Amino acid sequence: MHVANPMKSFPSPNSDDRPEGAIVDTVVIHATVLESIEDVIRHFEATDSRVSAHYTIGRDGTIVTHVPEDRRAWHAGQSRMKDGRTQVNDFSIGIELVNRNDGVDPFPASQIHALRRLLKSIMSRHAIQFIVPHYACADPPGRKSDPAGFDESWIRDLLDENTGHPSGTR
Ligand SMILES: [Zn+2]
Repeated sequence: MHVANPMKSFPSPNSDDRPEGAIVDTVVIHATVLESIEDVIRHFEATDSRVSAHYTIGRDGTIVTHVPEDRRAWHAGQSRMKDGRTQVNDFSIGIELVNRNDGVDPFPASQIHALRRLLKSIMSRHAIQFIVPHYACADPPGRKSDPAGFDESWIRDLLDENTGHPSGTR
């Protein structure tokens, strides 16, 4: 768990097929609340948790994967995009950041660097139009606060630079 590369896989049973014809154009960023990447792996491996994400990034920048990108991970819950689309899990990739989500626990530079690297990699495989914090697509609004303390400016330039599309987070 202390080695950043290659990415290790810890498969989660809490996933299923995306709907026929679904096009991945969104990434949802979360905070785990759980304290460590090991705790997250155990939580996503447990069938009774009913939750997962595609990736988790530790505080030190270690990235692990739980669900292949072509499958639907169960991370966004009841959700709605600003453009009105619901069932965000259908067309999104979920990334968890290990963080207590108390608004005080910092997101270390190593973790944000790894997030940016992962986002660039995802964007090389999918025409991503939106990168949104979970709190921005949770339905009803206010249902979720994660990732509390995350600064959207850390990632806003990625879409603007590479595609010219709005980030969808404003
Ligand atoms: Zn979340």
